[in-house]
Amino acid sequence: MSGQQEYSFFDAVVKSFDKAAKFTNWDPGLLEQIKQCNSVYRMHFPVKIGDRIEVVKAYRVQHSHHKTPCKGGIRFATSVNLDEVMALAALMTYKCAIVNVPFGGAKGGINIDPKKYTPYELEKITRRYTHELIKKNFIGPGTDVPAPDYGTGEREMSWILDTYTSMKPGEIDALGCVTGKPVTQGGVRGRREATGLGVYYGIREITHMPEVMQRLGLSEGIEGKRVIVQGMGNVGYHAAKFFRQGGAKIIALAEYEGAIANPDGLNEEEVFQHRKKTGSILNFPGAINIENSSAALEMECDILIPAALENVINHENAPRIKTKIIGEAANGPLTPEADEIFIKKGILVVPDMYLNAGGVTVSYFEWLKNLSHVRYGRMEKRFTENLNSNILAQLENLTAKKVAQKDRENIMHGPEEADLVYSGLEETMITATREIMDCWHSNKDIPDMRTAAYVVAINKVGTSYAELGIFP
Ligand code: GLU
Repeated sequence: MSGQQEYSFFDAVVKSFDKAAKFTNWDPGLLEQIKQCNSVYRMHFPVKIGDRIEVVKAYRVQHSHHKTPCKGGIRFATSVNLDEVMALAALMTYKCAIVNVPFGGAKGGINIDPKKYTPYELEKITRRYTHELIKKNFIGPGTDVPAPDYGTGEREMSWILDTYTSMKPGEIDALGCVTGKPVTQGGVRGRREATGLGVYYGIREITHMPEVMQRLGLSEGIEGKRVIVQGMGNVGYHAAKFFRQGGAKIIALAEYEGAIANPDGLNEEEVFQHRKKTGSILNFPGAINIENSSAALEMECDILIPAALENVINHENAPRIKTKIIGEAANGPLTPEADEIFIKKGILVVPDMYLNAGGVTVSYFEWLKNLSHVRYGRMEKRFTENLNSNILAQLENLTAKKVAQKDRENIMHGPEEADLVYSGLEETMITATREIMDCWHSNKDIPDMRTAAYVVAINKVGTSYAELGIFP
């Protein structure tokens, strides 16, 4: 990533933390403990690629053990370095605290460009990395549970699972050593789209807050909002999909090779297929090309969703951004300098550490499923359907009227796994949004929503430490 040398992502997280800590009453020693990364594991290991040996650099950072296991994704990218992994691990702690997911934060990364390797080579690298984690007790259902992140997905998680289970035969909860697995390998339905869906639920809730929308000069609700999404990976793709389905117009989509725009709205699925076929997002029928991808961020819109990497909006381009709401689907897409500019401009920044918490929330559901060894809905689906059917029959008897077939199906429907996961996620995101907004509005000195989110997170982690009896 450009700017990586002079910019410390971890320092930016610490800066935001310190800004928020002033609004809490915790002992400075406790605040210091919350802030620091508890365990940092940097490794080098050799992998045979073709006929040469490549030394791969990788990391796993456990930011906090105030609750265990630790939790956080693993990213494969050339931008991976210690500073980045530390920052992302810290964000995981705060993220989990805000959405009441009982994990400490962690993050892992392998410094490679996954596009340069064959699937076989990637499998070798992933398995070797997992071995290194096992050797140092940095993975396990009760210690540290990885998940997908930038550059990884279900395939990598199943390699991790297979390596772990083959090294730990008979460990009854082994399936819970990693989340984001394919459904056939102990994954949970709804995990793939969870982060994008969480972003949608979070922003939707904000658009239903009349006083916030009035301040921004926007009408209430998602319907008709002009949305720009940067990044068509798993998170960006699904965010675009749910916004479109919710009635918004996706007026531009950006990827690293360029961006496309259409004021009448784009269909993310068609764009995805076009990119798959042609190798580029550009030249999509009916859309105009924007060769310089970052220019798309500066187009006028109502909601801007950066869903790729960190540091894409900074002091340089922030003054040119013309949106009302920025929803941070990526981790750390804005620098603290950009934050200051948006506070002055009155743009609402909805912070990453809660807005993109849908992924880890559903990872929590997956982990619970793995520990309970039963699929969600298995026990209650039929029971609920029978109960609803009896109620319907009684109602029809009493009123002497028949309920239409379509309504009958809706009323009778017993919950399946995906229904329960979606509603659990919706509830989580709505509750978190309200909690952060209440905190923000309860103290007029809190300058922005990010600071309010940090205040909520610090208070929750602080309370956990206090409950552990380590700090008074
Ligand atoms: N990598 C995702 C994140 O940054 C998901 C983490 C998880 O599911 O543990 O939130």
